[in-house]
Amino acid sequence: MTTDKGELLALAAEAALRYVAGERTGRASPGADALAGLDGFPTDALDHPIPAATAIELLDRLGGPAAVRTTGGRYFGFVNGGVDPAGLAASVVAGAWDQNLALPVMSPVGAHLDATAARWIVDLLGLPAGALASFCAGATVANLTAVVTARDTLLGRAGWDVRARGLAGAPPLAVVTSAEIHASVRKALAVAGLGLDTVTVVPADASGRLDAAAFTAAVGPDADPTLVIVQAGNVNTGHSDPFAAVADHLETIGVRQRCWIHVDGAFGLWAAAAPERRHLVAGVERADSWATDAHKWLNAPYDCGVVAVADSATLRSAMSMDAAYVTGAGDERPLMNLGLQMSQAARAVPVWAILATWGRAGVADAVERCCRLADRFARRLADAGVEILAPVVLNQALASFGDDALTDAVIAAVQAEGTTWLGATTWQGRRAMRISVSDTSTTGADVDTAADAVLRAWATVRQPS
Ligand SMILES: *Cc1c(COP(=O)(O)O)cnc(C)c1O
Repeated sequence: MTTDKGELLALAAEAALRYVAGERTGRASPGADALAGLDGFPTDALDHPIPAATAIELLDRLGGPAAVRTTGGRYFGFVNGGVDPAGLAASVVAGAWDQNLALPVMSPVGAHLDATAARWIVDLLGLPAGALASFCAGATVANLTAVVTARDTLLGRAGWDVRARGLAGAPPLAVVTSAEIHASVRKALAVAGLGLDTVTVVPADASGRLDAAAFTAAVGPDADPTLVIVQAGNVNTGHSDPFAAVADHLETIGVRQRCWIHVDGAFGLWAAAAPERRHLVAGVERADSWATDAHKWLNAPYDCGVVAVADSATLRSAMSMDAAYVTGAGDERPLMNLGLQMSQAARAVPVWAILATWGRAGVADAVERCCRLADRFARRLADAGVEILAPVVLNQALASFGDDALTDAVIAAVQAEGTTWLGATTWQGRRAMRISVSDTSTTGADVDTAADAVLRAWATVRQPS
């Protein structure tokens, strides 16, 4: 048995190719047999180690069949992106490189591609030209990074150095979010010490958009320094908050300078990259910071998120591992000073490969195509009498099959049957099937196949045979 790197890589490549070959034919989620196969992984290997080739063989034989096929075109659960072929292949090469991107000197190639990919993302998303983007583990980490940066910047402007003094005794810092903000934002606020009970929660409308009039009423000219958190792309409906109205209001009442607008746009921010969808996020570029993911809609391999800030000095100051005011040369990207991690993978390498091969037009096309497919899925269901709970504007749709119990039963039947995989959610008090088209390899035929499977399950649940 071999431990030769080349031979193992060849075995790994064969295993990966076998998995990819079955990608578009098998179940969308593992069946009972595949799950039972997981018991075949030795649990005593810590004391009885196995050869390296055996480990790869087990991954191939037992692991692959038990993987969820988020990459085969028929997986519409959560908002899980597929994987772009160029991105996957680039990650294999970068895996062999095993670079640590903490500092440019540790990986000139990683730093170079990271800087390029980050600039491209700022450009594609229509963020201000001076904005700085940095890669991280996902939108949750990006949200936390932005919240900490906003906290330190706003309190710093009020004369309080959080890094030196902590939060006890700090001047007041208000936080305003929509009722529909993502759970990861609430986690970020809690972890950053901003106290969830102190957050002002503004109601959202029937599509999940922040109610602009209620926001106007919630933030007045005497407001304390305020962190406003809005979102691009509600995880249920895909609708985005009225960014321009939020920024207009803060400017009109003269408090913009002591406020920070953060946008959680894990997937929805990519609407900005598609000319036909850009209007959905109008005004988003007027924020101070943004969080998004590359592993969702861009179909980069997991895990890869992005945080961006309009004023790069604020991020450097909040995330520096040196003194806050030692920021180094402005155009350098010491990544350990641009995010929470020190050692970190070359996450940007697959992103670079995806963006370099898709180009601007390819990104726009991928976003637009997924939106049209979500609309197609919803129409197929609606034509058969299924209720669609919110207008489809992006890549998300919600379906109800009658009462909550019936909807849950249809979802369970679809998941058990295996042709496709869709999850459940609760939208405005009602159970719903959530449809997310986030795998850019999905075709119209995949959508039709999946919709047929859903309608078959609905028929079975209504009329048990
Ligand atoms: C997925 C998602 C997140 C969390 O992103 P992760 O990449 O899973 O950390 C945050 N906000 C929104 C709107 C999301 O859709």
